[in-house]
Amino acid sequence: MSHTASRRSMLSASGALLGAIALSGVPARAQAAEPQTRTRGYQVITSVSEQFDDLQQGTNLRWKGEAERIAFPRTAAEVAEELRAVLRLGLRPSARSGGHCYEGFVANPAVKSIIDLSAMDQVRWDPEMNAFEVGAGAQLGLVYQLLYKQWGVYVPAGNCPTVAAGGHIAGGGYGSMNRRDGLVVDHLLAVEAVHVRKDGSVAISRGTRDPKDRHHELWWAYTGGGGGNFGIATRYWLRSPSATENRPEKALPSPPRHVWLSTVSWSWADIDEAAFTRLLNNHGQWHERNAAPGTPEANLFAQLKTWHRSNGFITMDTIVDAATPDAEGVLDRYLTAVSEGVPAAKVTQRRIVPWMQATQWTGFTGPDSTRRFKGKSAYLRRTFTPEAIAAAYRGLNDPRIANPGALLMIASYGGAVNSVAPDATAVPQRDSIIKFQVVSIWDNPEDDKANVTWTRNTYQGMFASTGGVPPLNSTADGAFVNYADTDLDDSAWNTSGLTSFDLYYKGNLPRLKRARAAYDPKGVFSHAQSIPLA
Ligand SMILES: Cc1cc2nc3c(=O)[nH]c(=O)nc-3n(C[C@H](O)[C@H](O)[C@H](O)COP(=O)(O)OP(=O)(O)OC[C@H]3O[C@@H](n4cnc5c(N)ncnc54)[C@H](O)[C@@H]3O)c2cc1C
Repeated sequence: MSHTASRRSMLSASGALLGAIALSGVPARAQAAEPQTRTRGYQVITSVSEQFDDLQQGTNLRWKGEAERIAFPRTAAEVAEELRAVLRLGLRPSARSGGHCYEGFVANPAVKSIIDLSAMDQVRWDPEMNAFEVGAGAQLGLVYQLLYKQWGVYVPAGNCPTVAAGGHIAGGGYGSMNRRDGLVVDHLLAVEAVHVRKDGSVAISRGTRDPKDRHHELWWAYTGGGGGNFGIATRYWLRSPSATENRPEKALPSPPRHVWLSTVSWSWADIDEAAFTRLLNNHGQWHERNAAPGTPEANLFAQLKTWHRSNGFITMDTIVDAATPDAEGVLDRYLTAVSEGVPAAKVTQRRIVPWMQATQWTGFTGPDSTRRFKGKSAYLRRTFTPEAIAAAYRGLNDPRIANPGALLMIASYGGAVNSVAPDATAVPQRDSIIKFQVVSIWDNPEDDKANVTWTRNTYQGMFASTGGVPPLNSTADGAFVNYADTDLDDSAWNTSGLTSFDLYYKGNLPRLKRARAAYDPKGVFSHAQSIPLA
């Protein structure tokens, strides 16, 4: 039985019961405004439901919402029905798929209705579209499993298994195979979205990669324009532009059958500022030399994690497609280049594993994503500047914070990503070599201020001479919309004269503004960094 079939039958079997529970949970104000004839079979919960309070939060526990109603539609028609209902009630809606937003765009006191797509998690071959249909609520771990187990294919999306397609694809998601096969949006054929027209009516539209499609701009907007800007994506269809056959096995890339996984670590006890500088430069310069697509080195991806000194270690996780010619040689030469002139690293693991296991490797997935965190991102076109390295060293040795979960997470970029034109999708950064984040992860609410301040100060120091943010010049190329950072619009942290929109979207901003004006002209889905309507 397909995953879709099993989930649907379970949901429809319980539909009547869910509907009944939902009805009893709707507050008096909402019930009064609801139509008499009710077709709703999907679940809607309110404050009387036990799980309601929990579901006011996503994974970043810094944020908590005050929604009055959370709905779990199962089809685009149900999303449209729910959207009509909340607009009638005058509630501000927001979509939630995987709940991994960095900022409080969904879990926000101003959002009064959450339309949660997690019941739309189908992954199936659609013979009419000759593409894989992926529901917006499908979590990446499930997408990887179902694509691979049934058809032997994959899509180069993110590493966290509980991030969902809904927000991730809309933001131009990337992961450990980006240098080999590009971004997930480079394989996006179509999107279906529920949106509100100028006259207030709710529509369901499907836009495709075909430039002649009348909703082509909807597709384009969803190739990196960011979640919460163009209505609610309900389904995505995936098919590589290079696919010529109409068979599922040929519609998307095959993943590596096996990969080499490597972890090495340096003890902070051995690392002084000179060694740290050497390490970051070695790493950056290897990426400068090896950013071209289609080379054996493009089959290598690494995350260098320079943790705060209180952690004790700096670690580096690396993955290489084992079918690469001389794969182990590629890995060895990389490790040698990064380690040159740096005190010896300890090899903590080196093994070859099959693809399905690699998608669950904690080297990239991380142990637990449900904590408190703050992240700030940058694309680099060249290795780190001396200013950035010095500020990073200061931050990582800052005695005012002793958080072993504070770090610079430096990810390989480039390769196949850079073979796509900056305006072919909404992701304009197409000649970077590294994408990194200053991140802090912690648990106790009383540590919020210290950790947020640390990420801000460290990042600002790294880009001090360019107004506190990664410039759009020959060394850097802005920031990543999927790592949303509202500080980019705060003059206390950004004096560059560039807005978050410039840093995320660069020259694609005017076209994205037109797409927003077409698909959310009334600004129904606004959040702190919604693309401006004017
Ligand atoms: C632990 C962790 C690991 C991550 N790893 C990666 C990674 O490897 N690669 C990468 O690229 N990114 C990664 N991210 C970032 C992630 O891609 C973004 O946070 C993304 O927006 C999350 O999507 P979501 O649906 O899970 O989150 P949500 O919080 O549900 O949504 C995020 C935003 O998108 C909007 N949105 C959600 N669903 C829809 C929809 N169906 N239609 C329209 N808008 C919608 C929301 O309203 C919100 O504004 C990671 C994030 C975390 C927390």
